[in-house]
Amino acid sequence: MSVGPASPEPPVWERRSVEAGGWRITALSDGFFRLDGGSMWGVVPANLWRSMTPPAEDNTILLALRPFLAERGDEKVVIEVGIGDRWEPKWRDIYHILPTATLADTLRKCGVDPEEVTRVVASHCHWDHIGAQLVEREGALVPRFPNAVHHAPLAEVEMARRPDHARKGSYRSEDVTVIEEHGLLQPFEGSAELLAGLRVHVLGGHSDGVSLITFGEEEDGETAVFWADVVPTTHHAQPPYIMAYDIDVVRSFEVRSRWLERAAEEGWIGLFYHDVDHAFARIHRDGRRYEVDAIPGEPGAAAD
Ligand SMILES: [Zn+2]
Repeated sequence: MSVGPASPEPPVWERRSVEAGGWRITALSDGFFRLDGGSMWGVVPANLWRSMTPPAEDNTILLALRPFLAERGDEKVVIEVGIGDRWEPKWRDIYHILPTATLADTLRKCGVDPEEVTRVVASHCHWDHIGAQLVEREGALVPRFPNAVHHAPLAEVEMARRPDHARKGSYRSEDVTVIEEHGLLQPFEGSAELLAGLRVHVLGGHSDGVSLITFGEEEDGETAVFWADVVPTTHHAQPPYIMAYDIDVVRSFEVRSRWLERAAEEGWIGLFYHDVDHAFARIHRDGRRYEVDAIPGEPGAAAD
């Protein structure tokens, strides 16, 4: 069945997992925030997007901040850590940051201590995706996961170090430099298998190095794809539904078309970072459009 309109209020976090490529992937939560609906929807007409993601009076729409925990053997990998807690009241207000749940709490509820996390993988280095990599201890910024190798696309690391004028608002350089100073940063380029069954693909479009992360792509059985900001919510699963934030719209359309088609053809499980209601969903083609199917057991799924 198709998914309905996004919930106007943050749903309560519940532990849910899927399996793909030998990995158990659990949806965590680092709360919610709100961004301008027009910016999240680019050239999509307001009457269309307002029916899918209902805006508040200030035209902002609710968005999830949803890291994932991927476990296989001894590996405990956090995919996309979340927005974190280093936000002054002014910015908490501007972005309506709602810490209804936190990365630390939801990880703990999954029985994982920060020291046990072996890897952190970031799709790109925008502040709402990697802010939680750092915590403040006695006035200093330190890595939240002191024993984890932190992977991020090289193009993103370079942009975060020295963002140009157009990108300044999207990066905070300390998010990567502190990790680097602690010797924990391991950037990647192109397409690479970081761990058995866990691949990254640098695509660009939304940002210079935004990447997809897949599980089980080259193996039999289920494949899962972390859509990052390439497809930020289930409602954005049509190639032309491109955010105004995307720096290269032509590239964005091209990579979204290609990967949505592949995911639909091969029946992949999608992992969604910003979708309010759906951590997991599949897409399929219906004529010229894509339809989204909730995963059984997830909210919005058919009861049968
Ligand atoms: Zn982004």
